[in-house]
Amino acid sequence: DAPYRELEPLTKRLREQQGELRDQMEKIRDTADMRTEFTANVTHELKTPIASISGAAELIRDGIARPEDIPDFAGRIYSDAQRLSNLVSDILTLSKLDESERSADDALFGAAEMVDLYDVARSVVARMEPRAKDAGVKIRLDGASSLVRGYPRLLDELVGNLCENAIRYNKPGGKVMVFVYPRDGKPSVRVADTGVGIPEEAQSKVFERFYRVDKSRSRAGGGTGLGLAIVKHAALLHHATISLNSQVGEGTTFEVTFPAQ
Ligand code: ADP
Repeated sequence: DAPYRELEPLTKRLREQQGELRDQMEKIRDTADMRTEFTANVTHELKTPIASISGAAELIRDGIARPEDIPDFAGRIYSDAQRLSNLVSDILTLSKLDESERSADDALFGAAEMVDLYDVARSVVARMEPRAKDAGVKIRLDGASSLVRGYPRLLDELVGNLCENAIRYNKPGGKVMVFVYPRDGKPSVRVADTGVGIPEEAQSKVFERFYRVDKSRSRAGGGTGLGLAIVKHAALLHHATISLNSQVGEGTTFEVTFPAQ
């Protein structure tokens, strides 16, 4: 049986390759399922505001809306158009992020450069102040200059989405604290809020596309359900890690830590 013994390593290798192939096929199947689900969700999310805009416009066009109700209808049309616009822009950002994971293409987000996280956070906080004020929430920034290599627009979107959520899921009289400081010598940004919190069983799901703990609260606050998916992929692209700490009724802290420079 000497010749057969020589075959043994080959059989073993083939068996390993069979296993690898099975894993690969499972991955491809999962990706295809996720695509189908994503497309179905996108279609649904787009159809809802479109139906509402058409409905309101039709009532005005046909003279069915009473003159005194027209400002209300116009307001609904405006906010649904805004929602559509936010959705389309989030979907585009996500598809560019998916694309960038397949090929490093400078055309997608521009060339990587040295970016000061503190500058990014300062400009986000300034932009968020009116929104925070409307929600009765105080937003504060603390920390120091901290350089990372990355894409300025994406980093702005990352910090911006975390701050938007920290305001949207807060309580009147609540606080949002943004910290930029090194964690174990690594640049890090932390967004902490005193809001409603995220139940333990939902914490692993919030980064999934279109997952929401409270659908109506997300919609009413202008959420698309894509914010944290963008945050996760933007962090990945920067080789950063993201962690989340939350207590229901107490608040939530997200922390994104970048590789040491
Ligand atoms: P959305 O546009 O709905 O805010 P995200 O992807 O940004 O979508 O977040 C997903 C869900 O995670 C939200 O709908 C919300 O239920 C929950 N969430 C995100 N950030 C916070 C936060 N800071 N506090 C409480 N819940 C949050």
